[in-house]
Amino acid sequence: MKQFPSRSRIIENAPIDWQHSTPVSEQFSDVYFSRECGIEETRYVFLQHNKLEQRWSDCSVRSFTIAETGFGTGLNFFCTADFWQQQKQAKKLHSDAHLHFISAEKFPLALKDLEIACAQWPEFEWLSSHLLLQYPAPVKGIHRLYFAEPNITLTLIFDDAITGLANQEGSVDAWFLDGFAPAKNPDMWQPALFEHIARLSHHDTTMATFTAAGSVKRGLREVGFTVDKVTGFGRKREMLCGRYTPKPKQHCRELPPNSKPWFHFDYHEQRQASGCVAVIGAGMAGATAASSLARRGWQVTVLEKENTFATEGSGNPTGITFTKLSLHDTPQNRFYQWAYLYACRYIKTVFQTAGIAPGQDWNLNGVLRLAFTEKEAKDQADLLRESYWPESLLEPLTRDQISQRLGVESPFNGLLLHGGGWLHPATWCRTLLAHPNIKLETSQKINRLIPHDGRWLVDEHGPFDAVILANAFGCQQLEQARHLPLKPVRGQISYLPATDASARLQHAINYHGYINPAREGLHCVGATFNPRSQEQAQQLEDHQWNCEQLRSTLPALGDALRLPFTAPPQGRVGFRCQTPDYLPIIGPLPDETGYRQEFDDLGKGFLKRDFPFGPNHKGLFVTCGHGSRGITSTCFAAEILASYISGEPQPADRDILFAIHPARFLIRNIIRRNS
Ligand code: SAM
Repeated sequence: MKQFPSRSRIIENAPIDWQHSTPVSEQFSDVYFSRECGIEETRYVFLQHNKLEQRWSDCSVRSFTIAETGFGTGLNFFCTADFWQQQKQAKKLHSDAHLHFISAEKFPLALKDLEIACAQWPEFEWLSSHLLLQYPAPVKGIHRLYFAEPNITLTLIFDDAITGLANQEGSVDAWFLDGFAPAKNPDMWQPALFEHIARLSHHDTTMATFTAAGSVKRGLREVGFTVDKVTGFGRKREMLCGRYTPKPKQHCRELPPNSKPWFHFDYHEQRQASGCVAVIGAGMAGATAASSLARRGWQVTVLEKENTFATEGSGNPTGITFTKLSLHDTPQNRFYQWAYLYACRYIKTVFQTAGIAPGQDWNLNGVLRLAFTEKEAKDQADLLRESYWPESLLEPLTRDQISQRLGVESPFNGLLLHGGGWLHPATWCRTLLAHPNIKLETSQKINRLIPHDGRWLVDEHGPFDAVILANAFGCQQLEQARHLPLKPVRGQISYLPATDASARLQHAINYHGYINPAREGLHCVGATFNPRSQEQAQQLEDHQWNCEQLRSTLPALGDALRLPFTAPPQGRVGFRCQTPDYLPIIGPLPDETGYRQEFDDLGKGFLKRDFPFGPNHKGLFVTCGHGSRGITSTCFAAEILASYISGEPQPADRDILFAIHPARFLIRNIIRRNS
């Protein structure tokens, strides 16, 4: 098997030996599914023994979460999604019901093997075609996919099942324990796996597995499952199924080592399948949050202070989804990288589902990052040497190749980030908000959040079961969120009229600044970064700066755009909503007074005391501080919030959630004894 350098993010694909139509693992010498009939086996073992037919025949079920070990060919997923859809069509499930299917996979199939596998199940083509389109590149981490038609979220954890689940939070309703026979794959069937299964389970959680191995039966019993041995499928004599029924003292809620209770959230306790939610703000943060909750069956009211959506920070004519790649594997870097990979997939799925073809308002055909300084050239060479990302995501291009693609000469080599690209934020917001469960109310400036019988009034609106603050600086006008440290960073962009030569530009280009392909005859060129200025009016020197960055990096494109300009171009001034650590604020809104009381001892150095979970304003959540990377980070933020609210496992690992947690500044201040 190919070995990658230690810092590589690439995960190994499974080596497959195709024996007729059955995939056999060369590593484990075991089949992926029964040679007789894989579909019937899945239905019998996993669907029937998790009692899905009984559990999915009640229209009050609004959300359901299944977790699996070993995604393999996706056959278990297809059978489950297909049955979910059948139950909806038979009106046994509510049309809005949302299924979340999570699967940990250490050795994902290569796309070509997945294609061969899927081709043998024409009845699942309506699902597999979407899986193949969205199938993540082999990058270690959590990848979230969305299937609009059956309203299913698929979270693929490309990692070892134990490590992957150890990093998860949330509440699972049914387990599919797949993953090759314990005798052939003992590393996976370890006590640690069962402990995490228990930690993520609640009192009605069930499990089923094809194996009847004694070690599995004992392991599951030890963590609190009742386990039955029942007749197996086909030639297999026996299998196991069961339910989580822990004795009170066995209830597995201990925190993992090095955990920070002040950032923990009780998903089992706080989960709500659906209800009504207010989202304050109709920019990208609000529109993505509204959309993620609407498709989970929530009734969403979006309250916007302006008279339309996508203004202020979301008001630029074009923006790009892009991430800077760093070899340092920190939670901060992982946040942006995973957010980027998610945004690329999600934006494409949403636009395609809405029938909006690429070209006029969006195109995710790759972003060019030029090696415009020696340092950047070295960083890019390091990324390639370390095989940081697979070539399907990161393609090195020579200056000649770049010149050919741009239609004008480039003095620099560079990297093409596949999947990224540009979009028109207003079209993006409009598409997200066009959901029957979303109601937009404009010209609503919100001043107060008022507790009301366990719910919230938003001025005179409501009451709501939950409220999401997606209103950037507007958060600070609300008493409960006043402690969030947000600061404005002024940015000015310039609109350059396209010429015949520049109109051929297909890719967004990133250097010290950026230029986007022309939309409606104008290129958006940006952007200045000035934390000290509050100036609302456009400044001549800022236009000069934007154009000079472009001209000095790509002189031929500058010529094509007739730079330097004789009359100052049009443009726009905006204020990025930024945090002191340049990461956004995403999660439950902390109760400032409660935090100061509960965690006062942290400031006295008692770091090891037994602390409670952080006290939050139950039902209040925030997504803000997205700075200049809102297109990339807001899609991911929306899924993080929806997962908190509905108690589903998260698309981010625990360290990422802690790094973006709204209480991080409060805790830092308490520790440093700042006010
Ligand atoms: N559920 C799959 C399907 O529907 O095609 C079949 C799964 S196959 C029998 C077992 C899967 O478990 C393989 O895809 C294998 O790569 C994966 N696997 C093996 N060890 C693992 C581990 N430690 N963590 C996560 N996945 C693992």
